Amino acid sequence: MDIFSKIEEIAVKCDFFETGYINIANLKYYPEVRKLCEANSCRNYAVSWACPPAIGTVAECKDRVDKYDKMLLFSRKYDLGDSFDFERITEYLLDFKQTVDIFDRNLKGFLKEYLLLSNEGCGRCAECTYPDAPCRFPQFLHHSLEGYGFMVNELAEEAGVHYNNGRNTVTFFGALLFNLK
Ligand code: SF4
Repeated sequence: MDIFSKIEEIAVKCDFFETGYINIANLKYYPEVRKLCEANSCRNYAVSWACPPAIGTVAECKDRVDKYDKMLLFSRKYDLGDSFDFERITEYLLDFKQTVDIFDRNLKGFLKEYLLLSNEGCGRCAECTYPDAPCRFPQFLHHSLEGYGFMVNELAEEAGVHYNNGRNTVTFFGALLFNLK
């Protein structure tokens, strides 16, 4: 089975809603998105190894991405009774993170080197070790997609997947960067 078919097979097992490839040469990195991180509206800034400033500058993030040949964007959609049910949104984000972990575990079997990014911070531990000690689970540390300076709606458009899936839904995104050899 070729690498694309194998990744697709795992993505289906993970019940991703949509997937699509992005040409790495077309990626745009926005320092203004990083400014939003710094404004800390998501409350993840400077409290996690998965988010800025721990993940390095936007230029360093770009250098990390540029080592790979391919980028797959994937999404998972969740239905909500009410678009403002933040408690349910938080539960679904956790579910999404757990799904990304399952994706990761399956990828480890056949991809030698790859980078997996996902929406928002980490949240795996009750209290992150940042910045006093190394991450407890570096093998499952998935950097924030937004933290890299990406506009996720633009990534979705480039990949041909839906950014907004309608009223009373929430959609989370992640990206897999990998090499063909
Ligand atoms: S796995 Fe734990 S220590 Fe590592 S970034 Fe996540 S919360 Fe922090």
